[in-house]
Amino acid sequence: MLSQLPFEDRSDFENARRGFIAALEEPIIRTDAGAEVWNLERFAFQQGDAPDSVNPSLWRQAQLNLIHGLFEVADGIYQVRGYDLANMTLVRGDTGWIVIDPMTTRETATAALGLAFEHLGERPVTALVYTHSHVDHFGGARGVLPDLEAAEGVPVIAPEGFVVEAVSENVLAGNTMSRRAAYMFGFLLDRGSREHVDSGLGKASTPGTFGMVAPTRFIEETPTELVLDGVRMIFQNTPGAEAPAELMVYLPDWKALCGAENVSRVQHNLYTLRGAKVRDALRWSGYLHEALGLFPEAEILFSSHHWPTWGREAVVDHLKSQRDLYKYIHDQTLRLANHGRTPREIAEEIRLPDSLAKRFANRDYYGTVRHNAKAVYQHYFGWFDGNPANLDPLPPEAAAPRYVEFMGGADQLLENARRSYDAGEYRFVAMVLNHLVFAEPENEAARELLADTYDQLGYRAESGPWRDFYLSGAKELREGAIGLPFRATGTSDIASAMPSSLFFDALAVRLNGEEAEGEDVVLNFAFSDLGENHVVWIENAVLHHEEAPAREDADATVRLPRATWDRVVVGEQSLRGAILAGDIDVDGNPLALIGFFALLDRFEPDFEIVRP
Ligand SMILES: [Zn+2]
Repeated sequence: MLSQLPFEDRSDFENARRGFIAALEEPIIRTDAGAEVWNLERFAFQQGDAPDSVNPSLWRQAQLNLIHGLFEVADGIYQVRGYDLANMTLVRGDTGWIVIDPMTTRETATAALGLAFEHLGERPVTALVYTHSHVDHFGGARGVLPDLEAAEGVPVIAPEGFVVEAVSENVLAGNTMSRRAAYMFGFLLDRGSREHVDSGLGKASTPGTFGMVAPTRFIEETPTELVLDGVRMIFQNTPGAEAPAELMVYLPDWKALCGAENVSRVQHNLYTLRGAKVRDALRWSGYLHEALGLFPEAEILFSSHHWPTWGREAVVDHLKSQRDLYKYIHDQTLRLANHGRTPREIAEEIRLPDSLAKRFANRDYYGTVRHNAKAVYQHYFGWFDGNPANLDPLPPEAAAPRYVEFMGGADQLLENARRSYDAGEYRFVAMVLNHLVFAEPENEAARELLADTYDQLGYRAESGPWRDFYLSGAKELREGAIGLPFRATGTSDIASAMPSSLFFDALAVRLNGEEAEGEDVVLNFAFSDLGENHVVWIENAVLHHEEAPAREDADATVRLPRATWDRVVVGEQSLRGAILAGDIDVDGNPLALIGFFALLDRFEPDFEIVRP
């Protein structure tokens, strides 16, 4: 790795420090209750050369992401970086500050804004722009506009589809996505040279208090020009690229382009390991090409993560290289697929040209060429590689004992695996030992050797999420399933932004199909606060719902505020308790409602991943 990349080029370090104004004296951020949500001191070990247990390229990125503080991007544009996974950008308006992206949590956003006020002057926030629907770019809105009074009359700009996408991405598949996000971002790991070092996008993802201030204006067309607090802004709408709802914005008075998260200093994810719908590489690349044409004057490029790029030539160069990164992976994956190659073969064969691969900003720190190529394949072909052997294979627990027997039994397999481990064939060792662990989860020698193997795979990974995935797997092989060490604190802002139909969609995912077989129940839900009526029924073991007038043949009519319903559905209040307390008014047979509720599964947040 050290010989393959131009480590002597230190321009990223210069750019990451350029315009430095000040840093938090103590880089630690806590909740009101004193819980730590951010602590850069725990990354202090990232000095000097990479230790053997960290890929030197990831180590370099980790050092860059550790550069933190308030920075001047241009006279009038500032960024707070390094106190959250994401950046906060402040633009000086006629009467106050325009904030682009309020970070992930109220706590980090409050600290960032405080630092800016201290050194740039305290002025009101006169506009807020959300670049996209991922929580690290809106969750801290309440740190920027803390209450209704502060938000009164303040324009809040977002890309079209923002609210639904912001609240929906993690709802239907939420339990498993959270569990996998814990692996991807290293929530189960400490910080250390054999633990979490960096997420590629930034130091780490942060717990804390999430909220949202509802947008007042949506960007639906490219270009859309607005003047916010005296500042001209030209918006480019880029839905369905890095996020389902996303925009980029150009500030002509500074010739500065905000690339949101479509342009960054990593190769981004066409597929994210936490699990999400795959992204469209061709559209993504197309938007970057469009930006080159729309904003030919741009001399500064800043983004929602990492440090800016200065200079006309450098801006064009960076935009083109990221554009071509995604298009190359797209085109070459399909070229190889059209030659008959399957996903694993493509991942093995595809290689970026040096003109793209030797740039640090295109490296595998977050997404990787290997898993992004598989994402392109998935986008066009889905999960099946076309080989009938893979059409209906046995599930892991059923296949595992047969593999072990075919390989000569547990002892023979372990002996062979040790030899392969000593030869450094870690990927293969992981494949075979996984069978043994799934056949004999109590086999400690097998678990230990597999954990050691995951450690080695993690240590050599250039990608922060790959490293965290391997090391999290190793930790749980040694210690058992851990689950999330903290509970994410959502707020009523986010729950109330969720349309009722989405709530019922999520409920339908919890219906236990086997137990619901033969059930026939009809319920009317009247949400008194919203003035909405929903009819919910079970038919063919499927939960249906529609917003419609109450049905007269319903088994019961349930009257309650949506807020109460939210609490019952997420388990903060029991259904029985809510009925007894009079928070829910039931007309008809209350047992129909209770029986209906009993058909809903509850999901375990710490289910097994690396063991059966
Ligand atoms: Zn982000």
